[in-house]
Amino acid sequence: MPLLGAHLSIAGGPHLALLEARRLGCDTVQVFTKAPNQWSAKPIDEAQASLFRRTLRETGLRLPIAHDGYLINLASPDETLYQRSLSAFLDEMHRAEQLGLRYLVMHPGAHLEDSEEAGLQRVARALDEIHSRCSNYRIRILIETTAGQGTTLGHRFEQLARLLELVAAPRRLGICFDTCHVFAAGYDLTTAKEYDATMRHFDRIVGLKRIRVFHLNDSVKGLGSRVDRHAHLGRGQLGLEAFRQLLTDPRFTELPMILETPKEDGDNKCMDEVNLATLRRLLAEASA
Ligand SMILES: [Zn+2]
Ligand SMILES: [Zn+2]
Repeated sequence: MPLLGAHLSIAGGPHLALLEARRLGCDTVQVFTKAPNQWSAKPIDEAQASLFRRTLRETGLRLPIAHDGYLINLASPDETLYQRSLSAFLDEMHRAEQLGLRYLVMHPGAHLEDSEEAGLQRVARALDEIHSRCSNYRIRILIETTAGQGTTLGHRFEQLARLLELVAAPRRLGICFDTCHVFAAGYDLTTAKEYDATMRHFDRIVGLKRIRVFHLNDSVKGLGSRVDRHAHLGRGQLGLEAFRQLLTDPRFTELPMILETPKEDGDNKCMDEVNLATLRRLLAEASA
C-alpha cells in the first residue's frame, strides 16, 4: 500500500504537524520548515529539532518530506536573486536535515526573459553546488513536476530529463510527481488508458524509477491550461479515476502520496479528513 499523507502546518511548533498527521491516521507527512513566502526565518534550535525527531519516531511516520519556499528561483537570470535563492535553499537543506526529514521537494524555478536551456543550466549548476556543500547530508532533493505557469520550468518531461542530464550527480536526485501539475501541463490521466499512456511517456523520457513522492491534487483548471490550482479529489477536472489508477499501480506501492488540497471548504473545517477518506475508499474498492 502507498503511504498516505498530507502537507500539514508547523504553526505553534514543527512537531505539531506530526501530531496532526497521527490524528488523521497518516503514514507520512509533508511540511514547510519555515514560512514559505519569506526569505529567512529564525534558525531551528536543537530542543525543537530533537522534539521533532523524537515525535517522528513515536508517531512512526515514514519518509517525511519538506517542501521548499515559494520565493526561491534557482533558474533566475538575475545574479542577485540567484545567489539569494541559492543561500535560501542551502538553509532549507540544513533545516530539513536538522529535523530528520528524508526528502526536500523543490520547484525548478522560472527562466523569465532568458532561454529555457539557460535556465535549466543555472538550476543544474545550483544543484551541483548544493550537493557539494551538503555532501554529508542524508536528505535527498526531489524535483517537482510543475504546471508550467509563466516561464516556470519542469512542466515538460524533457525538461526534467535535461536537468538530470546536466547535473553532476543525477543519482542523488529524484522526482516528485504532482497529479494536478502534470495534468495542467497537458498530460492526461483521466482514464485508465490515458494514465497508462502518460506513465509510459514519463518512463521513456525520465524513468518511473526516479519518482520518489507523489502529490495527489485534483485540478481546478483543465488539461493543458498550465494553471496551478489544486482542487479536492474528485471535485476538479482530473476526477477520481486518476487517483484510483495511481493508488493501485503496483509500481508505486511503497511511495509517499501527499495531499496538498485546500484545508477548508465552506462548513467543513478539515478537508484533509475528507480527501484521505476518499483515498482509503478507492483503495478498499480496489481490494474488494
Ligand atoms: Zn505539489
Ligand atoms: Zn501546485
